[in-house]
Formats: sequence, structure tokens, C-alpha cells
Amino acid sequence: MPIASQPMPAPPRPFADLDRLGDEIAELSAHLDAATARLLTLIRDFDARGGWNTGFSSCAAWLGWRVGLDIGAARERVRVARALGTLPRLAEALARGELSYAKVRALTRVATPETEGRLLAVGRAGTAAHIERIVRGWRRVDRQAEVRQATRQHADRGLNVYEDEDGTVVVRGRLAPEVGAPLIRALDAARETLYQRSRVTAAAASDPAMVPPTRAQQQADALALLAETALHHEIDPGAPGERYQVVVHVDAAVLADPEQPGQSVLEEGSHVSAETSRRLACDASRVVMRHDDEGRLVEVGARTRAIPPALRRALLHRDWSCRFPGCHARVGEGHHVRHWAQGGPTTLGNVVLLCRRHHHAVHEEGYRVSRESDGALEFRRPDGRTLPEVPPTAPVPTDPIRTLQAQHSAQGLQLHARTACPGWLGERLDVGWAPDVLHPRAVGPGPC
Ligand SMILES: [Zn+2]
Ligand SMILES: [Zn+2]
Repeated sequence: MPIASQPMPAPPRPFADLDRLGDEIAELSAHLDAATARLLTLIRDFDARGGWNTGFSSCAAWLGWRVGLDIGAARERVRVARALGTLPRLAEALARGELSYAKVRALTRVATPETEGRLLAVGRAGTAAHIERIVRGWRRVDRQAEVRQATRQHADRGLNVYEDEDGTVVVRGRLAPEVGAPLIRALDAARETLYQRSRVTAAAASDPAMVPPTRAQQQADALALLAETALHHEIDPGAPGERYQVVVHVDAAVLADPEQPGQSVLEEGSHVSAETSRRLACDASRVVMRHDDEGRLVEVGARTRAIPPALRRALLHRDWSCRFPGCHARVGEGHHVRHWAQGGPTTLGNVVLLCRRHHHAVHEEGYRVSRESDGALEFRRPDGRTLPEVPPTAPVPTDPIRTLQAQHSAQGLQLHARTACPGWLGERLDVGWAPDVLHPRAVGPGPC
């Protein structure tokens, strides 16, 4: 019986040979780190210039689609790329292959332009495991400082409202960020409403002597509107669903064909585009109020849901997440591939799940989706090019490693096996000590 040809175990390599193998691993790793630095620079530029904004919700989502990174890794690349924009010394160390991507990734979680130099020294001295532990300790100090700051902000909150001698009311106060943010948004919204109204009245009065109010005056008027609105609604913020309900009045012709002249008006009276009203009508509980040519209300339909609950369950089960290429958002709206106002049926074959961002892209930004005869979806950009589910892979040179080395040496980068070696010589490193001493907010003795 012939002996099955088992692969022969490789003869033990001499130590020198293994050393060379180890050196080769270290040198190639330094090359890859240097190449990663270049990659992160490109990502930062692409991100800042909004190159991903071609139907994708973020630069990370685009990376996931175009380069095949999982979403966690893609987000991390974008985060590190952005962080390195303000941390030139860490960026350089990565570009020279002196710090590994893993170390730089860890250090950028805590580094600021002020602490960058100290953390770079830590990065050079320690192994990746040391850096991880030091960064964790550093964040603890950061978190303690954050908690102290939040406690102080909360304690410092206050609002003084008092009547001055002449009867005017003086308002002065300090709010925590999470309370201040909605206040600012509410003031902006109220100011916007008032400003639009006053523009109309000014146009009607056409009084050239009318001086436009200053920003401070506008803010004061906005605060008055907020107070009146709150009292009118008995200071009731309402149920979450009601807060965002949108009612659209629409000319029947507009819903069927956005090119048709006609109006689409939100309940409050602000005008929306025909495309927007088509999107809102695509998947909404709606009361369609039809108007005739003179604007008279001719018909009020019963309140219906565009997509009934049973169909929505089937849609969620089939599509699972937004179907736009590269998007995996779980919360979505049902989009009619052929709009119901144009006679498109509300059936599983004619609806597709899209997240809010991509529903907007399809209705208002010129992206198109169609269902092929085999049932597959085809997405197209506004310029007509198709947007494939999986993009074609980039061409790779026949010997990518040699090409990388040649490129680096053309840039004057001389990388070798010792380029990324930590300065650590094996002595015990007190990683708890490092943040206590190096961190700028540490209470202990400062660095020399
Ligand atoms: Zn739609
Ligand atoms: Zn989406």
C-alpha cells in the first residue's frame, strides 16, 4: 500500500535564518505602517472635502463599501485620520515607520496638541501593551477631570430674572451644555419664524425707514415667542410621535408629477419642494387634502397609513436594513420604487427599505433606484453611473511589497528591522505611574 504523501516537516532553520525572517517581518511591518500614514492622510483629505458624500452617510460607511473594511475598523481609521490632523508629531512618527499603527491608534485616543510630545515619548519607549495600559490610565485621569468639570457646571447653573427700576426685565444665567443646546436651537427656530414673518410685514409696509433689528433684539423677541408658545401649550412637550408629525397639503397633480405646477405646503404654512412632499407621502400616516385650481379644499380623505403594518413587517423581514449600497442602518422608511401617486402598488415588490438619509437621497438628491426584472435593485448616481453593491477591487501591482519598498526609498525613507523598536529594555514599567506624572491634569508631581 503506497504511503500517503504527507508534507515533510520543514528542517529546523538555523537561528541566523530565523533572525533574518524576524527582521523581514519587522521591516515589512514598518513599511506597512509608513504606508498606513499615507493612507490616513488621503482619508483625512477625502473626509474633509466630503468625497464620501455621494449617497453615503459618513466617510466610514464609504470606506466600508469601497475598501471592504468592517464598520468598526472604518470608523477607527477615520477617527485616527482626523486626530492626526492636529497631531503632527505622532503623524510623522507613523509616516517614518517609527511608531506602529496600533500604538498611534491608542495614543490618539487621549493625545492633544499640548500632550502630544509627552505621549510620543511614551509611545517610543513602551511596547504596544504598555501603551494600551497607559492610555487607559490616562483616560481615567481625563474622566475624573471630566466628572469634576460636569459637577462644577451643574453646580454653577443658575438663572436670574429680575425687574429693573424702569420695569424692564433683566435675564442673566449659566446653563449646562445639554440644557443650553436645546435652548439655543429653540431660540434659533423662533428667530427664524419671527424673521420670516417680519420680512413679509416689512415688504407689505415697504417702509424704507424701518431699521432691521439687531441680533440681540431678535433673540429677545425669540425668547418672548418661546414663552408664549410654552404657556399656550401648558408647558407640555407632547408625546414623541406627535412632536414630529408632518401634515402635507398637496395638489393632487404635484404628488403624481413633481414637474407639474402646484403647491405642497406643510401644516404650518412653510413651503416644501414637490420632491419632499413625495418623500413624506411615501411612508407616512397621512390625511390627503386635495385642493382645486382656486386653492379651495375639495376633498379630505380618511387618515391612512401608506404602508400597512403587515406589509411593513414583511418589508423589515426581507430587507433587514437600508438597501442603499454600503448602508446598514436598521431604522428605515418604506420607499415606493414607483410612487403610489403615480399608480405604483403598495406591495412587497414595489417597496424597498431605505434609511431617512438615503430616502432623502433618492427623492431630493437625484439618486435613483429601480427593480430589475430578476428582482435585484439597481441604484444610480445623479450622473447616471451605477452604484454597485460591491465595488470592483483596485488593481494591485504584481509584486506589491517591492513596489511599496521602491516607493518608500524614492521618498528617501530608509526602513529597516529596528525602525519601530521600543526603547524599553525589559525593566519593569510602572504604567500606573505614567499618567499620574505625565498627564497635565494629574494632581501628582508634574513632569520635569
Ligand atoms: Zn420614497
Ligand atoms: Zn441608508
